[in-house]
Amino acid sequence: MVGEAPLIGVLALQGGFQAHAKMLRGLGAQVREVRVPRDLDGLQGLVIPGGESTTMTLGIEREGLAEPLRALAASGTPLLGSCAGLIMLDREHLSVMDIRAERNAFGRQTKSFEADLDVAGLEGGPLRGIFIRAPWIAEHGAEVEILARVDGHAVAAREGDMLVVAFHSELSDDDRVHRLFLRAVARQRAAVA
Ligand code: GLN
Repeated sequence: MVGEAPLIGVLALQGGFQAHAKMLRGLGAQVREVRVPRDLDGLQGLVIPGGESTTMTLGIEREGLAEPLRALAASGTPLLGSCAGLIMLDREHLSVMDIRAERNAFGRQTKSFEADLDVAGLEGGPLRGIFIRAPWIAEHGAEVEILARVDGHAVAAREGDMLVVAFHSELSDDDRVHRLFLRAVARQRAAVA
């Protein structure tokens, strides 16, 4: 029912899922850690965190999560992918979003940095993005809206209610990306209520 706390899943096979869970709880969501397909039942949104995309791919295969995750995306459930989560949603991984991610695009170990980003649709001034061996979006289809760039490279995008950021929005104290995601969740719930 609209009005109750939304039930949001956080893929918890590997990587930085706890910081997402904390931020989502802080915004009033109920959070369920997702490790096996049945954990996806009844979710109203799902976050795929950062981490290491090869390890995460192996975990998704091991647990039989690829098809159920694709089905969740196809049902229109809002998704938020951060860093490795962005990679997981691209054409070469789960293939639910019409983007191609370039892994470690800013360089490998040494190229972690922070940048102030102008994100389309976010009010309140620039967002501090924390980039850790981050990808960028090298190619995208016509349905994809690029929301932010660093040095001309796309680092945030949306396609329908799928939102991806190349940076770690869960590690700063600026929760506007998660709020944007939860607004999509609230819209979907209002639409199906
Ligand atoms: N470089 C990692 C990968 O390719 C992603 C880094 C991150 O999620 N912080 O999987």
